[in-house]
Amino acid sequence: MSAPRVRFAPSPTGDLHVGNARTALFNWLHARGRGGTFILRIEDTDAARSLPEHETGLMEDLRWLGLGWDEGVDEGGDAGPYRQSERLELYRGKAEELIERGFAYPCFCSLERLEEERAAQREAGLVSLYSGRCRAIPGHEAARRRAGEPAAIRFNVAAGAGGAAAVNFEDRVHGAVRFPVTQIGDFVVLRRDARPSYNFAVVVDDLQMRVTHVIRGDDHLSNTPRQILVYRALGVASLPEFAHLPLIVGPGGSPLSKREGAATVAWFRRQGYPPEALLNHLALLGWSPADGQEFLTREEIVARFDLARVSRAPAIFDVQKLDALAARHMARLPGPRLAAMAAGPLEEAGWWDHAAGPEAWEWAGRLALLFAERLSRMADLVKEAAFLFEFSPQRSLADIQVRKALSDPGSRRVIEALARRLAGEPLNAPRFQALAEDVRRECGVKGRDLYHPIRIALTGTASGPELVRLLPLIEDGSRLKLRGRVASCAERARALLAATGSEGRS
Ligand code: GLU
Repeated sequence: MSAPRVRFAPSPTGDLHVGNARTALFNWLHARGRGGTFILRIEDTDAARSLPEHETGLMEDLRWLGLGWDEGVDEGGDAGPYRQSERLELYRGKAEELIERGFAYPCFCSLERLEEERAAQREAGLVSLYSGRCRAIPGHEAARRRAGEPAAIRFNVAAGAGGAAAVNFEDRVHGAVRFPVTQIGDFVVLRRDARPSYNFAVVVDDLQMRVTHVIRGDDHLSNTPRQILVYRALGVASLPEFAHLPLIVGPGGSPLSKREGAATVAWFRRQGYPPEALLNHLALLGWSPADGQEFLTREEIVARFDLARVSRAPAIFDVQKLDALAARHMARLPGPRLAAMAAGPLEEAGWWDHAAGPEAWEWAGRLALLFAERLSRMADLVKEAAFLFEFSPQRSLADIQVRKALSDPGSRRVIEALARRLAGEPLNAPRFQALAEDVRRECGVKGRDLYHPIRIALTGTASGPELVRLLPLIEDGSRLKLRGRVASCAERARALLAATGSEGRS
């Protein structure tokens, strides 16, 4: 079998929705796993709603997810141009070809007349289908009228079906599909303004781009019979394979609204989710590997993906599940990547400057690594790491756990012993261990009774990353010139004692 050629064909009318991203992913996977070609085609014939910024945005989103394309907009290829708005001549030519072959005809019905027809059908409780009025106009008369009258071009369904009662096809996901011809009205292929309809353009493009597999959402299942009629009318003997992917719903089974910000790739990107995690979750929307494993790297997904394992049942997009996968992906990422992901949220919080020097970036990498395993998305780093940049005794004391610990005389002794010893050299891991050992001997406490007060005093929180890694990070941060200043361990302990000491006397 020759290598597959697949395409993702979005309309640039808004942000890339997770449903469309899943379509792009399954196409990409089918190509990648089989040495095929992944094509990006932009379906921008709706001039009023298609905007260049949406096109740029969706390309950025695809690249962020790692779904690069081999042919298409921005990449080129021998079947271009890859924007439908630049292919209008091609559609016009093919529409004329259909007329010549007797599979299409000009339609002179005005919009008002068509609307009247639809209203009458609605009133009679009928499905709205074009009556076929202009089909009866003899060819020579239609050709003469076209010179002076605006006309759309319609497909002649009866001619296309050649007497068959139904259009049948085999879908890779849905199996045998049968669609009665009586439910298909003579649809428009070219509008009065010479723009093609979706069902026509998609066939002309898939044909000319030599697409072997049409993989798309099952909202397009009912368009496929129309497209098959067009293929046949154009004399195409071997059709592409069709695979219609299941609908994506929310956890309650309700459809994911395109309007919800949280349903776009851009939203997850801005929240600082690792793209690997979104990719992993999207891959599981309708597909699962034979062994049922859910945590999968990009390479594992490419190696295992198979259209034969795509299910028809609606797929659930569940942010909680994504979060669980994301925390595991996050923990595997290298420091420099984590630092780059953390920079945005830290900058927004006013603690970071993109122009920071290499030492500061290296420090940010350590910071992000330290917190990574606790996070699903980098936006949450701001909350988790606030104590680093915004340390103040008042802030610490707002926490009841901190107040409780400080009211205990044993804990207070630990903090005092710690503060005395912190005055000297800055802490690194071995020095912290030695210092903790000294405090242990002096105060006669160990384990949680020793470490909990230290954590409380220096971080103002009752839980967090390992102290032996965290405290050196605080110390090193305090010596860097960062936009958000990091107070040293000594400063922290002393400020807290001073604040609570005066409180005790008053
Ligand atoms: N522009 C169509 C969409 O975004 C493409 C459908 C198809 O893949 O045929 O839904």
